[in-house]
Amino acid sequence: MLDANETPCQAHWSYGPPPAAAASSDVRAVAFTDHGIWYKDQTLNLLGRGTLDHLDAAIDAGAGAAFAFLANLVRAQSVAGIEQEALNIFAAEAESLGLSTTRLPFPGGPVADPSAGIAPTTTDRFQVLAASPGEGPLHLLLNGHMDVVPAETPALWTSPPFEPQIRGGRMCGRGAADMKSGFAVGMLALRALRKTVPDLFSRQRIGFVAVVEEECTGNGALIAATQGAIAPEVVVLEPTGLDLLLGGVGVLWIAVNVIARSGHAESAHRNVNAIDLGMRITARLRDWAADLARTTPEPSMSTDAHPYNVNLGRLNAGDWTSTVPSSARFGLRLGYPRAWTPDRAEAEVRRVIAECAEADSDFPLQPEVTLTGLRARGYLLDKDSPLARDLAAAHHAAHGTAPVAYTVGSTTDARIYLNDFATPAICFGATGHDLHGIDESVDLQSIVDAARTLARFILMRFRPGAMP
Ligand SMILES: [Zn+2]
Repeated sequence: MLDANETPCQAHWSYGPPPAAAASSDVRAVAFTDHGIWYKDQTLNLLGRGTLDHLDAAIDAGAGAAFAFLANLVRAQSVAGIEQEALNIFAAEAESLGLSTTRLPFPGGPVADPSAGIAPTTTDRFQVLAASPGEGPLHLLLNGHMDVVPAETPALWTSPPFEPQIRGGRMCGRGAADMKSGFAVGMLALRALRKTVPDLFSRQRIGFVAVVEEECTGNGALIAATQGAIAPEVVVLEPTGLDLLLGGVGVLWIAVNVIARSGHAESAHRNVNAIDLGMRITARLRDWAADLARTTPEPSMSTDAHPYNVNLGRLNAGDWTSTVPSSARFGLRLGYPRAWTPDRAEAEVRRVIAECAEADSDFPLQPEVTLTGLRARGYLLDKDSPLARDLAAAHHAAHGTAPVAYTVGSTTDARIYLNDFATPAICFGATGHDLHGIDESVDLQSIVDAARTLARFILMRFRPGAMP
């Protein structure tokens, strides 16, 4: 996920007053007319200033409990494979505000779906779907992933990564922002709506699904959607800094196993080191990605963006310090254009690696390339979609400011709904810092602010009857 510390590129749009007329085909140039926003704004006012004031008061009153809920989630170390404790905390919170919960079976191991990621072999687990009581399909779905990335260097953290601490208006801890903050935003909004408009879900149902494996495959959201966790629109509560995240690029995870002629360290100058060979492949892939950004730029990102970053995230090599390593395993993450399928991206990457080794006599053998996780296709929600427009209007109604709509050089589970279920999905949430990094944190006030926007959006979806 994009980090709030990053300066937004000029490709970001704003749902503000319209700039001078521009070609409608180029998404970067088109901004939104303000008519749509004000009209929707009026809709909310029709619900009566009183209702909205009560709603905001209920959100303020519920903030402390939402932060305590978030702290409990952060304490439950839900890295890949052990998310159950945190999911149970989510289920208990949902039940405490009158939602019914279902544990959706999540099978460990391979998923037979063309758009699935390569699952790490784990034990059978479950995911949780919470929903307002009643029968029938869901009218709106909130989505959150309960899995967090590891925090393998706790000594570098100011406070232990899984012991949440509040400092300077922020909660610090692994997952505090990405994306357990989203569960706090969702529950705070739903609890305040339950207090302010108790019968809001009497005619149509809302769902809130907590999935796993967003960080490594996306199979959680995919499987849950086939088990009923789907609706005509989905809001993914990722930490977007109170802006609207509309899309992302393709992402592929691979492992490259390199073999080299090993030997004693005293003859290291005559032998070829497997790590060095792997670094040559990594350098070649980085050049390839830079070329790709020039030849196939991401239309929704500015020209100086780095849409297709190559990240060397894991490396295993060497069995003895005085031995030149004979093998090395490089764990790489690669971005690729939205227009490509995962299969095309895989074929391209395999071609680049094979050519690199072919052209270099130091490679005794072709490296072995395996897929290890994400096979994510890029995605983009239309910025003029009712979902984007109405969420922007709800934000404007709550804060008097227009959110920015943007895209990122990474991916989210929103792609699953858009690409595989033709369902509009958008990311919206709190302001996070140092996502996946050291001292990850979330602005507590932004959880309250996001809940205000989300609650108004939910009101718009479940109380359209108030419209003239
Ligand atoms: Zn996330």
